Amino acid sequence: MPARHFGDIPGILKGTTFPDRHALAQAGVHRPPQASISGGRNEGADSIVLSGGYEDDVDFGDVIIYTGHGGNNAATGKQVADQALEDRNLALAKSCLEGLPVRVVRRVSGPSSERYEYAGVFSVDSYWSKVGRSGFFIWQFRLIAAPEPLDEQSDAPPLTIRGQVFVQRIIRSTLVAQTVKDLHKHACQVCGQCIETPAGPYAEAAHIQPLGSPHNGPDVAENILCLCPNDHVRFDFGELMIRDDLAVMSRAGATLGILRMVPGHKIDSAYLDYHRKHFVPAIS
Ligand SMILES: [Zn+2]
Repeated sequence: MPARHFGDIPGILKGTTFPDRHALAQAGVHRPPQASISGGRNEGADSIVLSGGYEDDVDFGDVIIYTGHGGNNAATGKQVADQALEDRNLALAKSCLEGLPVRVVRRVSGPSSERYEYAGVFSVDSYWSKVGRSGFFIWQFRLIAAPEPLDEQSDAPPLTIRGQVFVQRIIRSTLVAQTVKDLHKHACQVCGQCIETPAGPYAEAAHIQPLGSPHNGPDVAENILCLCPNDHVRFDFGELMIRDDLAVMSRAGATLGILRMVPGHKIDSAYLDYHRKHFVPAIS
């Protein structure tokens, strides 16, 4: 089986329908023959099927409240046991943590037949547990549809439309961003902190020269820092800057330390220069 693919499948547009689960799997849209969540706890979930089989699911169209896997009677759709944050549920939690895109497929039932419709890419906005309708603990995931790209001819990410934070998180979760975070074992390059969560360690990938117009920084490892959320905000808003010798400086000019580096991840000083010139206001 080829490696797990996150995001749209090239050539398959939103709204494409498939006659059955086998066809969905063949197209690579949702590969497991029966499971409704495709994913691994360490990799994240790449796709789900919304089948109408879980009584606590709510489908608002662009927002879906999706019930996790387990404890469900497939024939009645009722919960008959508690769910745990494990296995494929943990895969969706990992997708939330890393901002990974999840392909969503809806089962559409007609009068005499059913089919599966590709609903596009969603992000996992948050997740929680609660007691469901039948009185058992369930895990639920809020999925939000990814905005359509503004200009389909352009590779520039759609940074200026609705759901901006969400789009940013998706973009920061490119393969290269994941690689940088993995190289640093999710430890912040400024303060060294690694935030542990029940779904795994959390860190953010910060593009030094931002993606998207007008900055058009590249999505390459040399332009990415692995940061904790606090230092990410300080960096993005110009409270922190990094000198070419990798000294971490406050805007006021105090040396706070040296950027933590690991083998296999180099920073290009041209991007650091861009960040200092465009995001760090001079002290007046
Ligand atoms: Zn930090």
